Amino acid sequence: MIEDTLEQNIALGQVNIKDIHWMMDMMQSIDVGLMVLDRDYKVLVWNSFLENHSGIQASKVIDNNLFSLFATIPERWFKQKADSVFLFKSSSFTVWEQRPYLFKFKNYRPITGSADYMYQNMTLIPLLSSDNEVQQIGVLIYDVTDIAVNKIKLEEANAKLLNLSRTDHLTQLNNRGAWETSLEQEFHRIRRSKHPCCVVMFDIDHFKNVNDTYGHQAGDEVIRRTSKLLRGTMRKSDVSGRYGGEEFGVILPDTDATNALIFTERLRKRIEAEVVEYEDFKINITISLGVSQLSEDSESYQTWLEQADKALYVCKESGRNQSQLFSKDN
Ligand code: GH3
Ligand code: MG
Ligand code: MG
Repeated sequence: MIEDTLEQNIALGQVNIKDIHWMMDMMQSIDVGLMVLDRDYKVLVWNSFLENHSGIQASKVIDNNLFSLFATIPERWFKQKADSVFLFKSSSFTVWEQRPYLFKFKNYRPITGSADYMYQNMTLIPLLSSDNEVQQIGVLIYDVTDIAVNKIKLEEANAKLLNLSRTDHLTQLNNRGAWETSLEQEFHRIRRSKHPCCVVMFDIDHFKNVNDTYGHQAGDEVIRRTSKLLRGTMRKSDVSGRYGGEEFGVILPDTDATNALIFTERLRKRIEAEVVEYEDFKINITISLGVSQLSEDSESYQTWLEQADKALYVCKESGRNQSQLFSKDN
């Protein structure tokens, strides 16, 4: 009841200093921190919640300046908040997402043991004196550790799920859907910026033979090794993906056809030189790579990709283990 009344008054911004005083007894026992400050940020009230969590008795706090007591409180930020409460005579609310806590209290809750500190929401209330002036403000501290930790955990789980849904299990590269989404984004971005950009499609040569000769597991190892070499050859800004079984795509932003071919040849030679050891087998592989630079002719990202695929097909037709650039004539 009393809490309800106080909450209503807080909501209305109509808390009278007298209310606070008669509520002090009740305030000692509730699970909310209450501090009263004057205009010089001198502490006038420090309830038992604050005593318990800070480990500092009210007698050591009262009549002292808040910022000299608690060096971790960001003075400028807090004063800005408090000054507006003094000035406009209206309450102000800060949630843990904006700033995790005002007081660096240790978190002792067993269920939310993953949080080092107590997450806090804070309300600043103007306390009206009898002449309707605000000489003091009340600071209410709510422990929202459980809510905050749950929300953080949920967000982490969602981020992991999102990541999983975009990742190819075997290679940890982008999967086809995620990679195509990047390609589409890049397509629209590059068309506006007019920077050069190339897309590469490459495919392991005679991969079926690898499976047939050494088994599917060995084939998987070859795919894994190929993606590892790809990762080691490309730049951080390049975007790679596993497009299909033994087929990969790479987006090369800010790269013209000449430089894209330097990249594809480097990768091709590295893969050609690699020996994949699996059980007692030593497996050699080669790849074929098709390159297409984005031009006015590509009306969609699909056409752009088809061009790289056509260039890849030309490689396959002309003996494999090579790179080809798409041109309208081939
Ligand atoms: P080409 O040089 O023309 O590309 O011939 P290829 O044998 O590489 O191509 P093809 O498309 O005939 O065969 C691809 C094989 O890749 C068939 C399929 O069983 C195998 N494959 C697809 N995904 C996987 C995978 O995840 N692991 C393994 N081990 N094999 C796979
Ligand atoms: Mg193949
Ligand atoms: Mg293939």
